[in-house]
Amino acid sequence: MASRGNIVINVEECKGCGLCIESCPPKCLVLAKELSPYGVHSAHYTGRDCTGCGICFYCCPEPGAITVYRLAAPPKAVASRGGEHAAAL
Ligand code: SF4
Ligand code: SF4
Repeated sequence: MASRGNIVINVEECKGCGLCIESCPPKCLVLAKELSPYGVHSAHYTGRDCTGCGICFYCCPEPGAITVYRLAAPPKAVASRGGEHAAAL
């Protein structure tokens, strides 16, 4: 099944606390193996299975570290829901 969401981690803001990784239901976040310029292992999206639920966003103590995108449904599904578009958090 295609991912329903996508996230972007801002390594300039992430402190590597791991709260988002623990909270993500489909477990699609990990700590990066490499150190960031600030000397921490920042969160990293594995690139699959994100549902766009936003839990990681609400758990993260650093404003601006995570941006969540809810991907638009395929045209047929959008039409059946009245054409609404989900907004980014
Ligand atoms: S939006 Fe939800 S599924 Fe996607 S990475 Fe964050 S917690 Fe995980
Ligand atoms: S919760 Fe925020 S600060 Fe902590 S690892 Fe995840 S993105 Fe980084």
